[in-house]
Amino acid sequence: MNLEIGITLNDTITNSIVNRIREYDAVLKERPAEDVTRRCSSARILAGMGSLLGIPVFLDIKSLVDRTLLEQSDPQVMGRGMFIPLQMDEFQLMIAVANPWDPTPEDVCAQKYPHVEIVKVLAPVAEINKILESVARRGGPEKSDLDSIEVDEIGEEIEDFNVSIKHEEPLAQFVAQMMSEAVRQLASDVHIKCEKDRIHYSYRVDGDMQEKHDIPVKLKDRLDAFLLNLMGLAPEERSKRVGISGRFTLVYLRRPIDIRFERHRTYRGYHVTMRILDKSHFEAKIGMGSLAFDENTIFELDKVMAVPAGIIVMSGPTGSGKSTTLNAILRELNRPEDNILTLENPVEDEIAGVMHCDLKSPTEFKPMIASFMRSDPDIILMGEVRDYDSAELAIEAAITGHKVLTTIHCPRASQILERFEQIGIERWKIAQTLKAACAQRLVKTLCPYCKIKKEGITERERSIYNVGEEWLNRELYIKAQDGCAECGGRGYSGRTAILEIIPITAEWSDALSKGTMSPYELEIAVRKQGVLPSLKTSGLGLVEEGRTDFDALRKVIDMLSE
Ligand SMILES: [Zn+2]
Repeated sequence: MNLEIGITLNDTITNSIVNRIREYDAVLKERPAEDVTRRCSSARILAGMGSLLGIPVFLDIKSLVDRTLLEQSDPQVMGRGMFIPLQMDEFQLMIAVANPWDPTPEDVCAQKYPHVEIVKVLAPVAEINKILESVARRGGPEKSDLDSIEVDEIGEEIEDFNVSIKHEEPLAQFVAQMMSEAVRQLASDVHIKCEKDRIHYSYRVDGDMQEKHDIPVKLKDRLDAFLLNLMGLAPEERSKRVGISGRFTLVYLRRPIDIRFERHRTYRGYHVTMRILDKSHFEAKIGMGSLAFDENTIFELDKVMAVPAGIIVMSGPTGSGKSTTLNAILRELNRPEDNILTLENPVEDEIAGVMHCDLKSPTEFKPMIASFMRSDPDIILMGEVRDYDSAELAIEAAITGHKVLTTIHCPRASQILERFEQIGIERWKIAQTLKAACAQRLVKTLCPYCKIKKEGITERERSIYNVGEEWLNRELYIKAQDGCAECGGRGYSGRTAILEIIPITAEWSDALSKGTMSPYELEIAVRKQGVLPSLKTSGLGLVEEGRTDFDALRKVIDMLSE
């Protein structure tokens, strides 16, 4: 069993925390212990830890930090022990720790401040990291005193690139800064592009590309070679291949972060995209954080997950968080009695107890499936249905009694059936195996510190957004033009998912396979029932709650079509 709170604890400690939480929770008391890890937010786990040890828990420590005290401490040492000194008077030093069983913070502080008593409080790893990052940012990058590239060996041949230390080689230091800044800004991707007389890099944050930063043109080849080297590839590879895909691991404040690397040759050089697979700021649990869907959707999702065999398909464009939601569903389904296999390209999110397989090339697909089915899976997660072979596997597996989770590229949930047909699957086959057609989008959320109140929308806006008259004088919030320091001037911070589910009941499945109902008519039927919200309904709900604005919603949803 593993508590997902960003620190590693041994089984004895984990079990006592789990038991403590169950003592206090009437619902969880009746449920198996694994449900605690699955259903509890990190805040509740932390509360369990605190109550176990009699240590107070502070979910927000930012306002408690004495900056002077903080600046006297070495960020690397604090990072190693995952602690932050908060306040000190002549008798006591209060420190926030992430792991109360780790003796490092006390050892370090006792040595530095021998005259005071050390009092611990518990704080979430993410909070401690945030403060550590703010210290690191204040210090700023220094290119002058650099020491050698330090690498922690985790894999066999490929070494991890530590971006939280100073590198002697200026290029290494530059890459370390570029990548650590990306992690700090919660960027999803870093792009490096070669144009005619300039090379630049930029980040994608919450779905939007940010400003471009120039890189000296003379570094073009060296930077390229450096990045390939991180994946253990020789520079010669770049002239041999049109596209290079790979993976490497960064170490950021002791935390390993996977990077998915894509490079393709362009007329002026290359275009590199590095996807940052940093899950630390994303609590991917159904019903929580960015996956806090409305009650009816959650209820339907629970129902769909309980169906013993069939396909659950998630649709949406690239970057709509489809795989994150599927992985969260997989976490819910993850029980010791089930054999769960995944077939992904690449593996994005490793879940304990699940056998992840990564597809290195499309030619591996067929042989992989064959050996896959022989290993007797109960639940299969297939990264994506992109061609006839993968679609056929999903159908075959569902017909033979397996639960299959997968994604497909198409805008609307109801178009999933048509997409399968385009790929070459007969309508009746998909109609009889599909149990739920889902569509998901990620909507940017307003920065709570600078959002601006607005009294209703204009008649013109009402026609653009295609919404009812009630919006003319409904109080809502919009983004502040220049944002604030908290959101880095963007006006938005973070994204939240909206999900539309079209459940395929036995009756509908029959009508679809006979052709007496079209997928679009099914969508209308679900809407008429008025229970499950469409993407637009959920999106408008977020606007009404003041969590997002129409501009953000319009970017991800076709407002006119509904
Ligand atoms: Zn702001």
